[in-house]
Amino acid sequence: MTNNSDRIDDLRWQKFHVLDDGFVCLVDCMGDDSSVVQAARVSYGAGTKKVSDDRTLIRYLLRHRHTTPFEMAEIKLLIRVPMDCWRQWIRHRTANVNEYSTRYSVAIDSAQTTPPNEWRSQSAVNRQGSGEMLATEEGEKLTAAEERFQQAAAELYVERLDAGVAREQARKDLPLCTYTEAYWKIDLHNLLHFLSLRMDEHAQWEIRQYATTIGEKIVQPLFPIVWEAFNDYRREAMFLSRLDVGVIERLTAHGRDTGTAPPYDDAAFLTVQDPVWADLQRCRERDECRSKLVRMGLLAEGLD
Ligand SMILES: Cc1cc2nc3c(=O)[nH]c(=O)nc-3n(C[C@H](O)[C@H](O)[C@H](O)COP(=O)(O)OP(=O)(O)OC[C@H]3O[C@@H](n4cnc5c(N)ncnc54)[C@H](O)[C@@H]3O)c2cc1C
Repeated sequence: MTNNSDRIDDLRWQKFHVLDDGFVCLVDCMGDDSSVVQAARVSYGAGTKKVSDDRTLIRYLLRHRHTTPFEMAEIKLLIRVPMDCWRQWIRHRTANVNEYSTRYSVAIDSAQTTPPNEWRSQSAVNRQGSGEMLATEEGEKLTAAEERFQQAAAELYVERLDAGVAREQARKDLPLCTYTEAYWKIDLHNLLHFLSLRMDEHAQWEIRQYATTIGEKIVQPLFPIVWEAFNDYRREAMFLSRLDVGVIERLTAHGRDTGTAPPYDDAAFLTVQDPVWADLQRCRERDECRSKLVRMGLLAEGLD
């Protein structure tokens, strides 16, 4: 494994732009893939094993959630992020944070704006999610209203400062689109947890852009073997519950009994579904199971 210091020097202070005025930038990094290996092989020391052995070990550790060796590496970032996104980000309690103070300094004069073609409709199936894009014509009205509102909020803030109002009070009506900046330091284990939640399609699009940038632009080059294992065993892996396994077993048996091959139809799926789901008209767990089976090619697509 190569030492990380050259890669860190290349990346340090490089701003990766996110959204319209946000960024993510590496400030410092302690450790590399070999730090994980070193911690796991506490009695061996580095340099005595072949790369393939190290890779195998890292993959084993990640696969079996042997997590503490991943806590031996740390990353420190400087980020610039809109407040609404930051509210989600800051819920991750396992990082160390120092945020720009709008009590001490004048608020950052930047707000996230939405182009006319980027307004998303409310999802019909997920109360927390977005659906299709709204029509650009409607988007143009929304963007114009956004501009008026942001302008008014910024003017009110400046008026208050000019009138001598304390910065800590003048800020109270600044909108959530206002950008903030923070130093954010986290160990690799908790960073992977953050990335698995926030790169996921269920996370809000905005924070997903940040998480994807951190993952692909910073973690991947600094920890290539960990990144590969993370994708194989976490991000692109699939969790099967006991109920899911039961459905797969019964569906396979159904195929054998009826002499049919996958992908099976929805009638077959409903026949072998978990008995607990059978009486329910709507069942999210059943829908999730269906999606997993479609992904595995066991069910035909477009059934739910
Ligand atoms: C798609 C999505 C939707 C969400 N919706 C909502 C919502 O509607 N409302 C809402 O309030 N939040 C919501 N959240 C936030 C979510 O509940 C978590 O607070 C957030 O994702 C941080 O996760 P975490 O606690 O695992 O991470 P971290 O705080 O980074 O913690 C990492 C891990 O450390 C351990 N840990 C940390 N602190 C403690 C502690 N004090 N006690 C015990 N164990 C601890 C836990 O194992 C935890 O998983 C949502 C998150 C996502 C990804």
